[in-house]
Amino acid sequence: MNAVIPIHSNAAGCAEPTVRTERGQREVFCGLTGIIWLHRKIQDAFFLVVGSRTCAHLIQSAAGVMIFAEPRFGTAIIDERDLAGLADCNDELDKVVDKLLSRRPDIRTLFLVGSCPSEVIKLDLSRAAERLSRVHTPRVRVLNYSGSGIETTFTQGEDACLQALVPVLPTLDANADKRLLVVGTLADVVEDQMRRLLADMGITQLDFFPPRNSTDLPAIGPNTRFLLAQPFLADTTLALEARGAQRLTAPFPLGAEGTTLWLQAAASEWGVSQAQFEAVTHAPHQRAEAALARQKVHLAGKKIFFFPDSQLEIPLARFLSRELGMQLAEIGTPYLHRKLMSEELALLPPGSQITEGQHVENQLDRCHAAAPDLVVCGLGLANPLEAQGLTTKWAIELVFTPIQGYEQAADLAELFSRPLRRRIKLAA
Ligand code: SF4
Repeated sequence: MNAVIPIHSNAAGCAEPTVRTERGQREVFCGLTGIIWLHRKIQDAFFLVVGSRTCAHLIQSAAGVMIFAEPRFGTAIIDERDLAGLADCNDELDKVVDKLLSRRPDIRTLFLVGSCPSEVIKLDLSRAAERLSRVHTPRVRVLNYSGSGIETTFTQGEDACLQALVPVLPTLDANADKRLLVVGTLADVVEDQMRRLLADMGITQLDFFPPRNSTDLPAIGPNTRFLLAQPFLADTTLALEARGAQRLTAPFPLGAEGTTLWLQAAASEWGVSQAQFEAVTHAPHQRAEAALARQKVHLAGKKIFFFPDSQLEIPLARFLSRELGMQLAEIGTPYLHRKLMSEELALLPPGSQITEGQHVENQLDRCHAAAPDLVVCGLGLANPLEAQGLTTKWAIELVFTPIQGYEQAADLAELFSRPLRRRIKLAA
């Protein structure tokens, strides 16, 4: 079933984005993929996928196999005996967890990560997590979430993981000072930059979620104000709001403009003067703009087409059109969370075409008809499109790479200019 929501006009008479909704075959990765960046961020956590050999292969090939390091993710394989009901999966799982935790004293939080196979055989991982927590607390906390690929996209894995952590966050004292919580996995280097900028404005009551160690969970409550650093955290947002935390609305910190508006939301809430805000942000903003100007030479006027994959598509489209002069052919997104995206939608060029969901055949037809210079898509579509002469960018790389903040703005632009330059070189 596909539907197009008609174009409205805003107060200035400009056409707002048109939203087409599609429900058809989809080409996306599953939420297990989030383990790759989550295990790097939360350094005392282990992610135990309860899944099949396919799940194990997906994780290992996406992560690259670290044969010399003790990995912090693994798969408890559901095999034929489990599927046939010949073995008690809960007993098997308990044995695997006991063995793992006795070998690895460094693990302080264990996530049992559900998969398509564990959901198909109706293995109740929330009960398993409760049971195992009773055995292993206080040394190890056991939580669960689903990374299944049934009706999800790959960034939902992080949303589900953080949502699972929200109930165990300590409660912020009702009389405590207001605290800022930055929500969404950021590379440590980006986190350090954000912390410095906010501290220079006087905002030092600050936590990041997820933290680098699962034993340093931030306290939350009605005095928490939170800023999303990632756009795909709809369920985590609801869970935080249910505990009284209030979201500060802002575009996402991609590009010089996005970063400034994101920081501005915190500065306004904390009553930072405009002079102080500019004193802190002026130099990094200028540096980012200068670096972006060098990338703009390669990107201005080029047409880009987004297939729905990472849920970063709308903020990226805003950044690429407003700061680099790219033309937006179509912005595909797996879901359109209008509330979380309202500031982003307002900044898109008039008449932008958004597609929510996917009917991959129809979208491929539209992509070919649009003849874009660059296509942003999942790995499954990239190679066939390259073979047909289109230039592609893997959406997943955008989540693996530090892209937020002033100092990363040009690196983000380069992720889009590099494939275009490579194509020119190959054609020469
Ligand atoms: S969770 Fe589902 S989609 Fe993901 S690798 Fe396992 S079987 Fe495949």
